[in-house]
Amino acid sequence: MKKTLVDIAISGKRVLMRTDFNVPLNDTRNVTDDSRIVAALPSIKYILDNGGKLVLMSHLGRPKGEVKDEFRLDPVADRLSALLKKNVKKMDDCIGEDVEDAVNDMAADDVILLENLRFHKEEKKNDPEFAKKLASLGEVFVEDAFGTCHRAHASTVGVTKYLPSVAGFLVSKEIEYFEKVTKNPEKPFCLILGGAKVSDKIPVIESMLDKVDYLLIGGAMAYTFLKSRFKGVGASRIEEGMTDTVERIFKLAREKNVSIFLPQDHVVATGISPKAKAKVVGEHIPDGWIGLDIGPKTIKEYKKVLKESKTIVWNGPVGLFEMKPYMTGTKELAKFIARLDATTVIGGGDTAAAVNQLKLANKMSHMSTGGGASLEYLEGKVLPGIAALNEKQ
Ligand code: AMP
Repeated sequence: MKKTLVDIAISGKRVLMRTDFNVPLNDTRNVTDDSRIVAALPSIKYILDNGGKLVLMSHLGRPKGEVKDEFRLDPVADRLSALLKKNVKKMDDCIGEDVEDAVNDMAADDVILLENLRFHKEEKKNDPEFAKKLASLGEVFVEDAFGTCHRAHASTVGVTKYLPSVAGFLVSKEIEYFEKVTKNPEKPFCLILGGAKVSDKIPVIESMLDKVDYLLIGGAMAYTFLKSRFKGVGASRIEEGMTDTVERIFKLAREKNVSIFLPQDHVVATGISPKAKAKVVGEHIPDGWIGLDIGPKTIKEYKKVLKESKTIVWNGPVGLFEMKPYMTGTKELAKFIARLDATTVIGGGDTAAAVNQLKLANKMSHMSTGGGASLEYLEGKVLPGIAALNEKQ
């Protein structure tokens, strides 16, 4: 068990916290979705309420080791100030003399936000000297950016070499739910996988076949599976060269007594556009048509399986939900899952975006904030940013 914020004394201490403030900005550099900032508030408020001096650090976008004005964190500082109703002092760099002076002048309850970590190429390289400079800004380190825990960067792993290091509330909730579903899930356990890229999800399937009872497949990845089962897939998006892999998965599933479900009908269209001609077809997709969502028969069957399940993990939308005509499958499953009396864990990235868009987030047991990180957890990998945190005695 990893130590969390409640296991350490923070009164009067400089608390260096890694957050994920990689938020979307519009053309005028306003934050268009502040949910990642809001997600960090429980840890932030706890630290301030307990007399800590808070030094926050984050990345934003991909500045690739260079200072680029469009990736500065000023809009984040403004939004955080508004949410906290107090001034958040934003620095123009994340290391250096100005930062050190400002940090040394802090009083209890002060908040400083460092500039984008990725303005320094040393961040992604986990450079020990850079990590040491970051670490010198705090007396304890709190990891609250689950979305980057699968990366060994200076601000996630490097700093832990120099400071007592614990999980913030956001990361500790992620650990709690992913440990539960990967180590001790209540059965029956259903995994829903969708999205576009199949190869990304193969390691998850291989690892989770040991744990789940049902695997529901949707999204574009279903067509790669269906093609290897000799179903017509028309002009749907598929990944070539996967036949052997798919066969291996079906064989493994048989050995482990896992039922794999593939779509029996589809919403197909003549193009990838909300205006394209669309219709519902049965299991074979005719030539020239593109599969963009699961059909009504499949939705009905998948709901039946979900109703039986006591643990549900969902990663990847089951259709091209960003376009209204192809969001029905994702919407119907999300609404159904939201009503179930089961442990429901929604993987980050697109699936979380879809559930948020449907305003169902608070009906799920856990909405993960990490896309890649949640997939790696399900693959059974050790996340370096979590492994580096101190263990409870
Ligand atoms: P991934 O990153 O692999 O999880 O893919 C997520 C993306 O897959 C989302 O943007 C979905 O809209 C997209 N997607 C889901 N189903 C389909 C489909 N049938 N055809 C094309 N894209 C899809």
